Amino acid sequence: MPWRVGPGQQAAFRLLETALARGQVAHAYLFTGPGPGLAQAGLELARALNCLEGPGEPCGVCLHCRRSARGNLADVGVVEPDQGTMKLAQVRNVQRALGMVSHESRYKVWILDRADTMSAEASNSLLKLLEDPPGDAVLVLTATSPSSLPATVLSRCQVVRFSPPSPQELVEDLCRQGLPPDEAAIASRLWGTDTPGIVETSRSIGLVGLAERVVQDLSSLGDPLELGASWEGVGKGLLGVYLDLAILALRDAYLLAWGLEGAGQTTGASSLSAWGPGRLEQCLGIALRTRGYVEGNVNTRLALDVMFLDLEEVVRGCQ
Ligand SMILES: [Zn+2]
Repeated sequence: MPWRVGPGQQAAFRLLETALARGQVAHAYLFTGPGPGLAQAGLELARALNCLEGPGEPCGVCLHCRRSARGNLADVGVVEPDQGTMKLAQVRNVQRALGMVSHESRYKVWILDRADTMSAEASNSLLKLLEDPPGDAVLVLTATSPSSLPATVLSRCQVVRFSPPSPQELVEDLCRQGLPPDEAAIASRLWGTDTPGIVETSRSIGLVGLAERVVQDLSSLGDPLELGASWEGVGKGLLGVYLDLAILALRDAYLLAWGLEGAGQTTGASSLSAWGPGRLEQCLGIALRTRGYVEGNVNTRLALDVMFLDLEEVVRGCQ
């Protein structure tokens, strides 16, 4: 059974797999890189370490693999920051758990997610644990960058770097989660795959239809005040998506206007490319500015009216 890993994580797991096959298991790993999937990657390592056929790529069928999949293998746990900070008491709890005799698992694996939020006391306590860990203990720390951890802690961890996923890997991941390719292509560009509930959100708002409507509104540029009213009417949450889609479409059209076909355009923006790069650059500036206004405390309706009036002036003014 292949590794159950997130987009962009395959390469790091191939390295881990080679090390496990050689019997090289570190007492402490630092999983570092972008995205929130690092704790999940830690759980996958725990599954690999405790697979009854392993350690190695998890078989997926043994008792331990099945328990791991349900999240109820004893001796494996995740600790998350408590109100933004990983505290001394949390590290002590892990220390206590690692000190107990294991009756089930080969390795006791604890994942300290966002370890870079550790208080000074917590990191001192962790350092003591890292200096003399129990034989069957494996700690997995996660942090966006190695430099965010104290050097003393870092020097005792084996660093595993997770690269950001490529655009294609993001799309494939969303397709695997059930989105059709055209929808996945837009969703991945809007939100990456970091946003929780991305598939449900994309489905519930009908992302492809929304993108078409945004491009249509931009290319027709009918009555600016009517368009302003209609965009305001969708509500502030969805308006953010409208504006992000407008920015994507204008960016795509800008690249197309320069003759850059196939530069990842997904929004059907070819109708806008006839405006030419100069005007599209101005339009992009207007849309970006409006998004800033809407995110701030500016009157939304006013910001939208001004946006459509400005867009009309740029587009029609030169005709
Ligand atoms: Zn197994």
